[in-house]
Amino acid sequence: MKHTFIFATNNKHKLEEIQQIVGDKLSILSLQDMNFREDIPENEPTIEGNALYKARFIYNRFGKDCFADDTGLEVVALNGEPGVLSARYAGEEKNYQSNNELLLKNLNPFPNKSARFKTVIACVLEGREYVFEGIIEGTIVNEPKGKNGFGYDPIFQPSGYQQTFAELSEEVKNTISHRARAMESLFMFLQQNHII
Ligand code: IMP
Repeated sequence: MKHTFIFATNNKHKLEEIQQIVGDKLSILSLQDMNFREDIPENEPTIEGNALYKARFIYNRFGKDCFADDTGLEVVALNGEPGVLSARYAGEEKNYQSNNELLLKNLNPFPNKSARFKTVIACVLEGREYVFEGIIEGTIVNEPKGKNGFGYDPIFQPSGYQQTFAELSEEVKNTISHRARAMESLFMFLQQNHII
């Protein structure tokens, strides 16, 4: 029988991506499946801290194995910003378009457009905590391009590709992305421990 995890997110884009990445390796319960509609606080100073907080919070509430993702876009010329503040870079309303516009404005004076997405997946399995990281390097393009994905996808072009994440297909993004890489590490760990 497949092992079941709650995926601790209220972000429907992340849920869709994780479902595609997981395929039939695991059985995933969403927070909607658990009838949980509250916002989980994300006030920790690091991406890892937020991922752990979210996974613990849901584990403590439901007592079921669970994992959570926290992601940040780190822009080299901006000293790693927006980083842990990626969701509310342009304000508490967490608007994707305003975030992208502010980032393009702030980066405009700098010739170095290098950036990376970093995902930390925190997993609570039988009460023990584990973290897994996934990184993809790339560049910020001069204007938003493409309609797929979410968040900063229209302005992030992964290294080795001529299109932004929002122009690439879901299949391509979900094979190479920060989130897919962090999940690969989680799968390896689960395989080594004979859980999948
Ligand atoms: P969170 O705190 O992990 O929910 O993510 C922080 C912010 O990063 C989100 O609001 C999105 O703007 C952005 N983000 C997270 N994952 C992705 C992604 O895969 N592509 C583009 N932006 C993302």
